[in-house]
Amino acid sequence: MINTKNLIKVFRTDEVETTALNNVNLEINKGEFVAIMGPSGCGKSTLLNIIGLLDNPSEGELHFNGYQVENYTERQRTNLRKENIGFVFQSFNLIDELTVFENVELPLLYMKVSGAERKRRVNEALERMNIAHRAKHFPQQLSGGQQQRVAIARAVISNPKLILADEPTGNLDSANGEEVMNLLTQLNEEGTTIIMVTHSPSDADRSHRIIQLFDGHIVTENMRQKL
Ligand code: ADP
Ligand code: MG
Repeated sequence: MINTKNLIKVFRTDEVETTALNNVNLEINKGEFVAIMGPSGCGKSTLLNIIGLLDNPSEGELHFNGYQVENYTERQRTNLRKENIGFVFQSFNLIDELTVFENVELPLLYMKVSGAERKRRVNEALERMNIAHRAKHFPQQLSGGQQQRVAIARAVISNPKLILADEPTGNLDSANGEEVMNLLTQLNEEGTTIIMVTHSPSDADRSHRIIQLFDGHIVTENMRQKL
């Protein structure tokens, strides 16, 4: 599903040049649950953002379902992202001015889904994430765990084939983190491919494979021993 060839990402500011990714070669199959680990600053978020088409590599190739993304127009890339990829972030990234319902509804507005259908799908997603009772609240009125469940509802509302999660439990206590991991695991069992950055060994235990990054390149890839 995802293939990268010699991905390089260099960030340049006036004074410094940082090589965030240095020759990353990666293959991720449909249905996999992959964890990306490694010390702070090693390039995990940069890699996830490039795979998620939120950023471009400086050099190298990204292939999505066999097609090289660099050959796409900006509009094609945006469509590819909005139709196929759901994002979950450490800091939830909900829009404070919108209610829970409206936050989750946003991707469907983009897709021009009709009003009645939007209502049905949003309510279904909120129920699934055990947060339907908060539909009319604003993000700031919710606990961190509740906000992350709303963010997951928003990520899955368009039925994406791929979910990218950047430290999804990083701001949560262990009980809420566990609930978020249960939801992600369930989505994966239903066929959604998941790539998750995490610092938590117990979160990584949910994955099929752990990719270790160090200084912008992959140092090890371990298939987890299946019991
Ligand atoms: P991680 O997620 O593993 O903590 P990042 O991918 O965020 O690491 O960052 C990798 C490196 O790239 C770091 O040295 C970071 O400072 C640098 N970096 C990330 N984003 C930018 C940016 N927009 N501009 C300049 N440097 C950046
Ligand atoms: Mg990061």
